[in-house]
Amino acid sequence: MQAITILGATGSIGLSTLDVLARHPERYSVYALTAHSKVEELAQLCIRFRPKLAVVGNAEAAAVLAQRLRTAGLTTEVSYGPQALCTAATDAACDTVMAAIVGAAGLAPTLAAARAGKKILLANKEALVMSGQLFMDAIAASGASLLPIDSEHNAIFQCLPPDYGRDLQRHGIRKILLTASGGPFLERAIETLDTVTPEQAVAHPKWSMGRKISVDSATMMNKGLEVIEAHWLFGATSEQIEVVIHPQSVIHSMVSYADGSVLAQLGNPDMRTPIAQALAYPERIDSGVAPIDLIQIGQLSFRQPDMLQFPCLQLAYDALAAGGSAAALMNAANEIAVEAFLERQIGFRRIPQLIAEVLHRLPADAVHNLDDLLEQDRRARELARALLVA
Ligand code: NAD
Ligand code: MG
Repeated sequence: MQAITILGATGSIGLSTLDVLARHPERYSVYALTAHSKVEELAQLCIRFRPKLAVVGNAEAAAVLAQRLRTAGLTTEVSYGPQALCTAATDAACDTVMAAIVGAAGLAPTLAAARAGKKILLANKEALVMSGQLFMDAIAASGASLLPIDSEHNAIFQCLPPDYGRDLQRHGIRKILLTASGGPFLERAIETLDTVTPEQAVAHPKWSMGRKISVDSATMMNKGLEVIEAHWLFGATSEQIEVVIHPQSVIHSMVSYADGSVLAQLGNPDMRTPIAQALAYPERIDSGVAPIDLIQIGQLSFRQPDMLQFPCLQLAYDALAAGGSAAALMNAANEIAVEAFLERQIGFRRIPQLIAEVLHRLPADAVHNLDDLLEQDRRARELARALLVA
């Protein structure tokens, strides 16, 4: 029996994870569920999955949840705030942590899980993008295991040899081919992107996801974050990571080997597949996802990404090359820009401009610990907010 904590249980990944867990009650139990503000949704999940612990964003929400659970006859302990998230991620009673909080808010508990030697299922790519070496060092020091949930990285993981130790050379690996759908604006002329609305941006043609990652997919910052994520997870240099646009989203990524072989993982665009793969690894379990129908799909196509159409992708490659805190600064500026776009404060094309301005004004610094990182994150947010109203 594996006891699981889900950080971000009410989100898109959190709910998909619970869907898979519910199919295998004999294998998995739920230790803790966390949510930020959706108290009623979390209450419903607690009633269904009976966790030992539930965590919400603040004291008021915790009081409402505690009352609600008492009335339902549950003994679930209720707590709140960042420290409680870390407890949920590190308690000795929990084996596996699904890191599915969106953005920098997930960094501290995910890093805490790494330090505590947990099995980490990583969906919260921003946490790894921000903390990079610090995170990988924590994993190595504690002996934690890290399994990628992001569909591309999960695909790459499946196409790598089982004893792969972040050493491309030794395994004759030429390149990692990271596929990208291109998002909802792939076919639009750049000039027309000024007028796109948040509703259009979050309407992803292939995947149903949270709002922030949906906007990231439309700008292709999501792919930029994923390039950096692949660098840390697989030990690949930026030259060894190539982004390939593949609008059908059937191939979730590929690994190109020295002998000319290219291995790919295919499947329907449903996050329950990578979630089930990581949960059960090295075994395989039912995820509720039907196999792909190749005849129905008919054709697969590929093309090169256009860096002029998608400047965020170039910004991410540049941040990776700059090293230090550059990726954390970029991530923070992106979070502020996306939020402002969703609140209709800025236009879509302002997102990459704002990030570029922040990176231009704030030089990247060395990162030695979590405090350094949070300080860099804070400075980038402050500057991005100031630039928003300038
Ligand atoms: P979502 O917006 O649907 O859910 C986010 C979750 O995080 C919610 O449970 C919310 O309560 C919690 N949360 C938000 N702000 C918080 C805060 N300040 N403190 C504590 N908790 C907070 O997002 P999602 O689409 O499920 O994505 C989650 C993560 O997984 C993101 O990092 C995303 O990039 C990654 N991811 C998602 C998908 C997908 O298909 N949705 C695919 C690949 C990777
Ligand atoms: Mg992805």
